[in-house]
Amino acid sequence: MIQVEEAIRIVQEQTHSLSVERVGLDQALGRVLAADVLADTDLPPFDRAQMDGYAVRSEDFAEVPARLRVAGEAAAGRGWRGRLQAGEAVRIMTGAPLPAGADSVQQVELTRELEGGAVVEIDCATTPGQFYVRQASEISAGETVLRAGEEINAAKTAVLASFGCAEVPVYRRPSVAVLATGTELVPVNEQPGADQIRDSNSYSLAAYARLAGADVMRLPFAGDEPELLRQAIAEASSSADVLVLSGGVSMGVYDFTKTALRSLGAEIFFERVSLRPGKPTVFARLPCERQTLVFGLPGNPVSVSVTFNLFARTAIRAMQGCAESALVREWAVLARPARGALERTSYLPATLGTDEEGRLLAEPLKWGGSSDFVAFARADALVIVPAGIKTAEAGSVVRVVRLPG
Ligand code: AMP
Ligand code: MG
Repeated sequence: MIQVEEAIRIVQEQTHSLSVERVGLDQALGRVLAADVLADTDLPPFDRAQMDGYAVRSEDFAEVPARLRVAGEAAAGRGWRGRLQAGEAVRIMTGAPLPAGADSVQQVELTRELEGGAVVEIDCATTPGQFYVRQASEISAGETVLRAGEEINAAKTAVLASFGCAEVPVYRRPSVAVLATGTELVPVNEQPGADQIRDSNSYSLAAYARLAGADVMRLPFAGDEPELLRQAIAEASSSADVLVLSGGVSMGVYDFTKTALRSLGAEIFFERVSLRPGKPTVFARLPCERQTLVFGLPGNPVSVSVTFNLFARTAIRAMQGCAESALVREWAVLARPARGALERTSYLPATLGTDEEGRLLAEPLKWGGSSDFVAFARADALVIVPAGIKTAEAGSVVRVVRLPG
């Protein structure tokens, strides 16, 4: 039995980033950058007015109010090309380049036009640098603004747009196949008969895989037939980078996932993790052209969610070249006691909040165990209680990981 951290490390070690493709900026949201992005211009590209008002020379304010001759107008996208002389002002709009010779801007609210706009009276003096943003004060041309391995969010699309990245180099999205095993399963649109249940895992797995950035296909059920399972796995391996199986990895008489994997010549990297829930998690690679990675996850709906996000998600993120592929661990204060286990590290569903001092607070859910997916649906994080700790007390500081979505 291996530790969770060790299992995550093995997943990262066995996973390689996929090829790079270029997508239009409109399609880049949620993708992972495959190359650093450099600024191709200064930002701002010129000294840029921050206010509507008048561009002036601060030394012209020996007396206030000052009367200055209006020499012209600078608008956004249409600057004033002259040079400001002593005693002059230029009417200026937000976003316009500061005219040569000016060293500051006064806001329009403190001014009055006289003589039909030929002269402006300004109530307050300016200081050099006032109300404009200096060229290159935010970024200089040539600086790195985004790095390979960063996920592109909405704010970063503005950065890409500003520096002319109409096409963005990103890693290919992994294709993920989801295969549910279990003779007891019926599709969601059917009424379960005696001894049957509706399949929920293939939906939660598909949803988590999409959140991780994958293209997902849900395959027809494989039942609990060794030969059917073998065929389904072999078929999936031709088109999937990652195959996620639910169920059939425990010690039951009808748990055939590992048998099927072995008969296909799969290399099994681990098959028992010191984790509650999720001990019988299997990680393997098929000897096919795609070198498909396989995650065999224990079928209990909560186990499936926990083990997917710890292990399969890590592979899906690493395939996209994510700098940080595994879930990030944070510290939180326990709001209620959390029960651990002697032999395995527990990952327990919890909700997050903050206490009066603003510290992250984790409240473990009252739940019925690894089949209680209705309770689990309210969780937004997992509290980690290391093996050997019987009870983590309220008020103690624990590690947590946030659940995606
Ligand atoms: P297994 O890992 O196959 O032994 O399954 C463990 C438990 O999870 C059993 O109670 C199964 O009925 C349940 N289970 C397995 N697959 C699914 C699924 N796709 N959706 C919901 N529950 C499942
Ligand atoms: Mg089963």
